[in-house]
This record gives sequence, structure tokens and C-alpha cells, in this order.
Amino acid sequence: MSIRVLVNGAKGRMGRQVVQAVQAYQGLELVGQTDLGDDLKQALGQSKAQVAVDFTHPSAAYANARAIIEAGVHPVVGTTGFRPDEIGTLQALAKERRLGGLIAPNFAIGAILMMRYAAEAARFFPHVEIIELHHDGKAEAPSGTAIKTAEMIGAARASTPEPTVQEQELAPGARGTRAYAVPIHSVRLPGHVAHQEVILGGMGESLRIRHDTISRECFMPGVILAVTRVVDLNELYYGLEHLLF
Ligand code: NAP
Repeated sequence: MSIRVLVNGAKGRMGRQVVQAVQAYQGLELVGQTDLGDDLKQALGQSKAQVAVDFTHPSAAYANARAIIEAGVHPVVGTTGFRPDEIGTLQALAKERRLGGLIAPNFAIGAILMMRYAAEAARFFPHVEIIELHHDGKAEAPSGTAIKTAEMIGAARASTPEPTVQEQELAPGARGTRAYAVPIHSVRLPGHVAHQEVILGGMGESLRIRHDTISRECFMPGVILAVTRVVDLNELYYGLEHLLF
């Protein structure tokens, strides 16, 4: 029996790739495509989708994920821009219904490894900063991947280093923003897809861990893995690593 899949944001850059990937994968059936202006709740009901993949817009991420869960459909959400409390609320909603799902700020396997290695390295090098670079069509900053990386670093490192000098920003934002006490610098330029470098500094040495997305194809194995796995899960996970390791 094929898994019935609806793609929300189907006309977008990611959505178009997901539509192709679902159609090409044996064992999945594309039963719906929705985008801005469509009635997602109605489409979920009419299509009898088992899994809904959402790559839309940060402003719609929470409402869409909530609608998918409330319809009893397994969510696979790549849209970024969730606040931590929103993820907690969605996880509680899914738990009540014993519904499996995944919200992942990054579906690229290499990016998951980059985050994992960064967290591991931060145990030894607590002085760490993140530079994330994306195409100029990306709405929000910093990226969900950068925030997630900062969260993992914050949880892994034994101490948060104090600044060695009293810092003074001559132009506001010169030192980036901070998440989980990790400085994050966001670059938005044409000619980029999605890239991130984690720079760790120690006594007389530095370590750089970098991931480059060359094309959006790289997200598809992770999306397909999630679509095929969530139907057998009974809670909502945050991060593809929960399905990989
Ligand atoms: P995109 O090209 O702008 O595509 C988004 C699509 O969703 C567009 O067709 C857009 O319509 C539509 N849309 C906007 N609001 C909607 C709503 N409320 N309901 C239904 N459809 C809606 O963007 P993208 O590059 O595909 O990225 C989409 C999201 O995925 C972003 O949050 C991005 O950061 C994230 N992303 C995640 C990963 C990951 O691995 N997790 C990877 C890449 C991107 P209009 O064009 O008419 O507004």
C-alpha cells in the first residue's frame, strides 16, 4: 500500500522538488498539491492524505502545522521560522493524538552532520560563532539551521565563555545576533543556496566546519526518509537527526 502524500507550498522552490521526488519514489502516492490561496484543511480531508509535507512561509508555518495535526495527518514540515514555544505546543498536540511527525529546519544529511560535529567540537572549543549564508529570497534571519546549531552547541558545551573585553559595536549588529549565547551572522546574497560555517577558536588554533548546499536536490533524501517513517511514529520530533541516529 502506497503512502498518500499532500504537498503544501507545491508551487514553491522546495515544493516543486518535493512533488517530483514523491512522484518518483515507489511506495508514495501524490494525492494533493496546495499553495497560497488554497484551503489546506479541505484539501487534507478530500485527498485523504496520510502525510502532508509543508514548505511554505515562516508566517504560515505554525498555522499550517497545526491544521495538519488537527486533521490527523502526519506532518513533515520543512518551513522555518518556528518559535520554541510553538514547537512545544505542536508536540503536545501531536502527543495527545499519538500522531507521528517531523519538523526539520534542515533536511540535508550533510547539514545534520555539520550540526552534530559542531556540537561535538564545542565541548572542546567553547568559543564558537556561526556564519550562515543564503539566497536573497530567504525571508527570515537567522536561519532555522543556525538557531538549531546554536541550541545544540549551547547544550553540548560545558561553559559559556565570557567576552575577554568589553565589546563596543560601532555600528549596531556588527557582532551579529545571539541564540543560546552563540553569535550568529546572516548573509543574504544572490548566487547562494544555503551554506553554513561554524568557526571554533582555541589557544593558537581554529577549526571550521562548513556545509554547502549546491542544489535543493540535497534535501530530498531527508524529506523522503521522513515521509516514509512518520507514519510509524507516534510523536512529533524536531530535527532530522532523530530519524537518522
Ligand atoms: P518559496 O519558493 O517562496 O515557496 C513557498 C511556496 O509556498 C510559494 O509557492 C508560496 O506562494 C507558498 N505559500 C506561501 N504562504 C503559503 C501558505 N500560507 N499556504 C500555502 N502556501 C503558501 O520558498 P522555498 O524556498 O520553497 O522555501 C519555503 C520554506 O522552506 C522557507 O521557510 C525556507 O526557509 C524553508 N526551507 C527549508 C529547508 C529544509 O531543509 N528544512 C530547505 C530549504 C528551504 P507565493 O509565492 O505566492 O507566496
